[in-house]
Amino acid sequence: MASPPTNLHFVLFPWPAQGHLIPMVDIARMLAERDVMVTVITTPVNTNRIKTVIDRAIEANLKIQVLDIQLPFAKAGLPEGCESFDMIPSVSYVANMFLAMKLLEEPAEEMLRVLYPPPSCIISDGGFHWTSDVAKRLIVPRIIFYGPGCFASLCINIVNNTNILGDFKSDLEYFALPGLPDCIEVTKPQASSWGKGNTKETRETFERTQEAEKAAFGIVVNSFDALEPKYVEEFAKATGKKVWCIGPVSLCNKSLEDIAERGNKAANGEHDCLKWLDSREPRSVVYVCFGSFSSTLTHQAIELALGLESSNIPFVWFVSRTSDEFEKWTSEGQYEERIKGRGLMVRGWAPQILVLSHQAIGGFITHCGWNSTLEAICAGIPMVTWPHFADQFLNERFIVNVLKIGLKIGVEVPITYRGKEKFEVMVKREAIKLAVEGLMNDEDEDEAQTRRNRAKEVAQMAKKAMEDEGSSHLNLTMMIAAITEELALKNKSIKDIV
Ligand code: UDP
Repeated sequence: MASPPTNLHFVLFPWPAQGHLIPMVDIARMLAERDVMVTVITTPVNTNRIKTVIDRAIEANLKIQVLDIQLPFAKAGLPEGCESFDMIPSVSYVANMFLAMKLLEEPAEEMLRVLYPPPSCIISDGGFHWTSDVAKRLIVPRIIFYGPGCFASLCINIVNNTNILGDFKSDLEYFALPGLPDCIEVTKPQASSWGKGNTKETRETFERTQEAEKAAFGIVVNSFDALEPKYVEEFAKATGKKVWCIGPVSLCNKSLEDIAERGNKAANGEHDCLKWLDSREPRSVVYVCFGSFSSTLTHQAIELALGLESSNIPFVWFVSRTSDEFEKWTSEGQYEERIKGRGLMVRGWAPQILVLSHQAIGGFITHCGWNSTLEAICAGIPMVTWPHFADQFLNERFIVNVLKIGLKIGVEVPITYRGKEKFEVMVKREAIKLAVEGLMNDEDEDEAQTRRNRAKEVAQMAKKAMEDEGSSHLNLTMMIAAITEELALKNKSIKDIV
């Protein structure tokens, strides 16, 4: 169904991390396909990462533009060119990155003030709390995009708005999060990824983000109603906001190039990998990838390599951010020769959706980033869950306990909470072997088959949501209509004053 022409202009502020930028670009495309003009404001490195996809969208007559905004590296104490969370040299620079993001308020407002046509709506990553003040000054509605689905967002909301964490002394004790439709048990570190933090700066950011949520026009979520109906409802209640689930947004990409190049150019081994997969039996290969910026420490990477080798299950592993020590280990031990024929290691960026939707793939070892989770859901692939940090432990609960399409690898402590040397190997090779075999083998027929069937059912639901007249399609229509109505009200009140 074609949408009526609009004269709306949405301005999007994606957070500088692949897991936020990629779905925002999809949202830009979805809006532009509804005849909305879209401006994405981001930094040059990020612009470059999305350039080919945006250029193709423009060639297809979609009204999208990307405007560069420069990060004040020196002022924020960041190395020149460090424009995305995956580029930060060490954790000690995270605070500098947050400061740099905060310093964008003034230049961003200047850009918005001279945009033509003037912005009708801002869709801002939740991390840019200051867009709330800018939106207020410009009298423009602001919609928040947080990144995770409603389940994790609701868990975070409960943690942030109750004293539940204060009730427990130990970091190891499991407790049920109150007020959730299901019994979800977590530890304090697993649940406190978006909390107040311990410094004056983190507390200020937290408070401003909370205020910005209170002032927001609504929240747009990369999810779909049928995936988490109770959580969509409860999240809307908890925030008191309109919540529009318009995903899985990755399904808006139709051309092979757009699917292959989401977020980055795929590694050189892309074609070899797909060719290699062509030669495998259907549903026989496990795919391993830990997202855009989780890095596996050397000894853990070695343990993973040995676990995969001992499982006897074919695998393709996209290894990013390897260390010299790991490379030395693989070459000295001739690891790649040893696994040849059964396993494939590719260094660099995976064309993840192409891999997940290949008929040879039967399982996914994932870090439970929300985008990867949804992409596996769309492909109908069950998962071995190996969360690292942030919302990933919550997403694991959702995959395993709510959707029942995953198997836990057994990691319990977020990376940020580990003493690096002491805990470098959190998952032993035996656990990896067991989890991969449990997911992929037909021997334990009942459980594995039930998981697989359920994953296929959920994939069908995802596709349906994104079809014309599907829930996500209708929710996007409603979101655009709500903004149109809001603007009409604004214009009327301006006329009334004049
Ligand atoms: N991704 C990819 N190739 C890679 C690594 C990541 O295409 O080699 C994409 C993946 O498909 C997903 C995003 O990057 O869309 C990662 O987001 P997610 O939320 O899963 O994890 P994050 O990187 O934010 O931890």
